[in-house]
Amino acid sequence: MLNEFAERLFAGKWIAGQYISDAIAASRDLNRSNMTAIVNYLGELYTEKDKVEKTVNTYMKLVKEIKKGKVHAEISVKITQLGLLIGKSFANKNYSMIVDFAKRNRVFVWLDMEEHNYVSSTLEIFKSKAHGRNTGICIQSYLKRSMSDLRSLSKLDANIRLVKGAHGVTSALGYPNRADATKNYAVLMDYLFKHFSRFTIATHDLDVIDTALKLRKRYKKEVTFAMLRGIRSDYALSLARKGNDVSVYVPFGEEWIPYSYRRLKEWSNFKLIARSLLPTQ
Ligand SMILES: Cc1cc2nc3c(=O)[nH]c(=O)nc-3n(C[C@H](O)[C@H](O)[C@H](O)COP(=O)(O)OP(=O)(O)OC[C@H]3O[C@@H](n4cnc5c(N)ncnc54)[C@H](O)[C@@H]3O)c2cc1C
Repeated sequence: MLNEFAERLFAGKWIAGQYISDAIAASRDLNRSNMTAIVNYLGELYTEKDKVEKTVNTYMKLVKEIKKGKVHAEISVKITQLGLLIGKSFANKNYSMIVDFAKRNRVFVWLDMEEHNYVSSTLEIFKSKAHGRNTGICIQSYLKRSMSDLRSLSKLDANIRLVKGAHGVTSALGYPNRADATKNYAVLMDYLFKHFSRFTIATHDLDVIDTALKLRKRYKKEVTFAMLRGIRSDYALSLARKGNDVSVYVPFGEEWIPYSYRRLKEWSNFKLIARSLLPTQ
């Protein structure tokens, strides 16, 4: 009962629904407004093979549906939902299978970035398949290592999706303070404009988007703007209406709690909303 209430209150806004058909319907809605979907099947940190196998099968079905329905949609997978905690070679095999199948069906595959302790393995697995144009990887500006990661990815002409980071980080490894992560975002974005031919600016920070629009005029690079479903949707629409390439990250599936929790933490008005939910004194 409480679950259902919470699901409807918080998750419904950010998550397309439980099934592939829900993700396809949400993607079609975006396509009607000239936006592309980035579809993610929810789930992470799996230690059981059957959950990983279900995830791989679901992505395969999703790719088929995207192709069959001529939907403008990419997919975004997490390495820990493909079995990294069971074994790196197991996760690599699953990722390769999805990338090869998606490539045959002309569907683009993003690799999400998770907690800092999985970054090296995620990059290693990404690099082993980073040929051609149908794969891309997320880089987080709250990590100090990200500039060095971008330098090595520039040699592969990789597709990058730049984000601030959602998992939390210590000051030894990164910038726990949002203002510092934002400053580093500007530095990394500048590097992208100078050294990459195409990339995705994934943020709801309007100042950052404004700077990116100015830099694009100067450097003439292929830039896509990306936002999460349910956050600043009107702004995403207005960017698309002005002729910009815009993508929206569309999660679906049953495992909605970790994702919704991250969004809830970031909700700037969370305290106000939480207060309004408390019984009045
Ligand atoms: C397409 C896409 C893919 C992503 N993939 C990854 C990934 O693979 N790995 C990863 O670690 N992170 C990922 N993220 C999440 C990202 O790291 C940030 O946590 C998230 O985007 C919020 O940061 P921000 O850049 O919008 O900046 P912030 O400074 O956090 O927010 C800027 C402004 O946006 C608005 N806003 C932000 N979040 C919310 C919210 N939940 N509700 C209401 N308003 C909000 C607020 O007005 C806020 O002031 C992704 C984000 C996007 C858009």
